[in-house]
Amino acid sequence: MKSKVYLIKAKRHENADLISRKARAVYLALGLNEKIQPEDFVALKIHFGEKNNTGYIKPRWLTGIIDEVLKKSHRAFLSDSNTLYVGNRSNSVDHIRLAWEHGFTPEVVRIPVIIADGLVGREKSEVRVQGQRIKSSRIASAFLHSDAMLCLTHVTGHVQTGVGAAIKNLGMGCASRAGKLDQHSVVHPRVNAKQCRNCGVCLRYCPAEAIIQAESYVMIDDEKCIGCGECLVVCKYGAVKMKWDEDSRRLQEKMAEYALSVKNHFQGKICFLNFILQVTKDCDCMAKNQPAIAEDVGIVGSLDPVAVDRASIDLVIKSCGQDAFKQGYNIDWSVQLAYGEKIGLGSQKYELVELKEF
Ligand code: SF4
Ligand code: SF4
Repeated sequence: MKSKVYLIKAKRHENADLISRKARAVYLALGLNEKIQPEDFVALKIHFGEKNNTGYIKPRWLTGIIDEVLKKSHRAFLSDSNTLYVGNRSNSVDHIRLAWEHGFTPEVVRIPVIIADGLVGREKSEVRVQGQRIKSSRIASAFLHSDAMLCLTHVTGHVQTGVGAAIKNLGMGCASRAGKLDQHSVVHPRVNAKQCRNCGVCLRYCPAEAIIQAESYVMIDDEKCIGCGECLVVCKYGAVKMKWDEDSRRLQEKMAEYALSVKNHFQGKICFLNFILQVTKDCDCMAKNQPAIAEDVGIVGSLDPVAVDRASIDLVIKSCGQDAFKQGYNIDWSVQLAYGEKIGLGSQKYELVELKEF
């Protein structure tokens, strides 16, 4: 059976109010708002963007959606979980300050920002799962104390999963630090000594002090490595390598199982909106401004995270005539979709409905 995916075309340089009205139209088409009860805690799951990143979903694009949610319940909040790696989002104080810097202030969005796994990322709840990869998922507590969720995702490429969209926002983005570590722990990069210039940059970014500097190159200590992938991204000489075929597959499968555990919690009171605007090679965790790798498409929404991701990827590929994600990283991103479909997270078959009125 095909899942419905609603599309409204948009460009990131359009007036923010116009984009907000378009996002609202997609949200209303999904019907979730009708299910929200007074007093429901409603989590708007988002990524606020790392410092100096510019690709994140802009707060003014969300005001129309927030208006509608507030008509149903005053207990709505914007939320993300703290990061695994060092940066400006690894504790709640820094994280909220950064969200404010990026415009997610009470004056603009009119709802609070709450970091879902507490001050230093230790507030988590465990959910039992009968998965092939995991037996329990460790989810940031505030998400599991919520009654409804709007999963709002900026579609990007990704260094470890090829594509970062709704499945990743749900599975990895809602996980506590322990849950993120669970998912990444299969991933251990290697340094090619011949390519390494011993510049030391990766040492500064490694959150686990897992990189050891020898006389003319660096090495990774597998015992300490937590598999966050930072060193892969920061090495400009391409000296850090990954066994993508094996490690990325297992990571994507774990991520899909985590995503299923979160989706199941909401029992139908969850929807997914993907913003296909300024699609970048890397995700919004990157502390830099990145050029777009594809034409802007617009906003798509569905009640099915697999369908909304499949449609997003198809639309990006159609818009640029090639697989822009694989041009960035040669990773088989289809694993998360196929595995998600296999475990009941959603369907890759979808019916695209274009909305013209907003
Ligand atoms: S960033 Fe790259 S080149 Fe520099 S030390 Fe690390 S692996 Fe070597
Ligand atoms: S070695 Fe690389 S992947 Fe491992 S913890 Fe350090 S930065 Fe992360």
